[in-house]
Amino acid sequence: MNQPAPVIEIRDLHKSYGSLEVLKGVDITAKRGDVVSLIGSSGSGKSTLLRCCNLLEDSQKGDILFKGEPVRWKTHGSDRHPADTKQVMRIRTNLSMVFQQFNLWAHMTILENVMEAPVTVLGRDKKEVEEKARGYLHKVGIGDKTEAYPAELSGGQQQRAAIARALCMEPEALLFDEPTSALDPELEQEVVKVIKDLASEGRTMLIVTHDMKMAADVSDHVVFLHQGLIEEEGAPERLFGSPSSERLRGFLSSTM
Ligand code: ADP
Ligand code: MG
Repeated sequence: MNQPAPVIEIRDLHKSYGSLEVLKGVDITAKRGDVVSLIGSSGSGKSTLLRCCNLLEDSQKGDILFKGEPVRWKTHGSDRHPADTKQVMRIRTNLSMVFQQFNLWAHMTILENVMEAPVTVLGRDKKEVEEKARGYLHKVGIGDKTEAYPAELSGGQQQRAAIARALCMEPEALLFDEPTSALDPELEQEVVKVIKDLASEGRTMLIVTHDMKMAADVSDHVVFLHQGLIEEEGAPERLFGSPSSERLRGFLSSTM
C-alpha cells in the first residue's frame, strides 16, 4: 500500500532576509501524528522556518510540501506573493499557528475570538462553530471563560484560548512558536499540560520551544538548529540523553 504523503515536508529550505542568510538548507518531515520539536539559540531561524510553512514568509530555494502539495510563492514584477488566495487559506487553515504573543482580539470575548476565523474566514455555520468553540475551550480548561475578555484572563489562560482558537479551525497540524515563553513559570505548566494532551491524542505538531523538558516529554523527533542548519536531530531520549555535537551539548547546558 502507498504511504500517505507526510503532513509537512520541508526539503532543502533556504531563506534570506536581504543579505542575511537565515536558513541554509533545512529538511524536516512530519508524518501524520508526529510531534517534531525545533530547538536552538535565539536567531537560529526557528520562527522563520515556521513562518515559511505558513506562507507568512517566502523562501529562495527548496520546497515545502503540505500533504504532497507544494506550498509556493510566485513573482509579480519585483513583488512576490503567496501562490493564490485559495492556497493561502487552505494552508493557513490546515497548519494553524499558535504564537508566543497570543494575539487575541481585545474587543472580543474569548468565545468570539475562538469563533471568528471559522465563521468569517471559512464561512462555517455559526451555531455549529459555537458548539465546537465551547467544546475546545472546555478541553483546554477554560470552559468557564467564554464571556470574558482577553484582558480579564491570565497569560496562561489567554494562551490556552489561543490554542482553542487554533483547534477550532480543525487543522491537520498545529505549529507552535514558543507558546510558553511569554508566561511566568507557574503559568507555563498549564499550557504545557494542554500541549501534552494534544500530543497524546496523536495530533501532528511542529513545536518551537525553549522548554527542553516539554520537548523531551512530547516529541517523537527533536531538531537542533544552529545558524540556519540542522546541527543534530534524533529521538528525544537519544538527543537529550547523549548529544554528540559539542554545540548541542553547550546549548543544552545553557538551558537546563
Ligand atoms: P529564532 O526564532 O530562532 O530566534 P528567527 O527566525 O526569528 O530566529 O530569526 C533568524 C534571523 O533572522 C535573526 O537574525 C533575525 O534577526 C532575522 N530576521 C527575522 N525576521 C526578519 C525580518 N522580517 N527581516 C529581517 N531579518 C529578520
Ligand atoms: Mg523565534
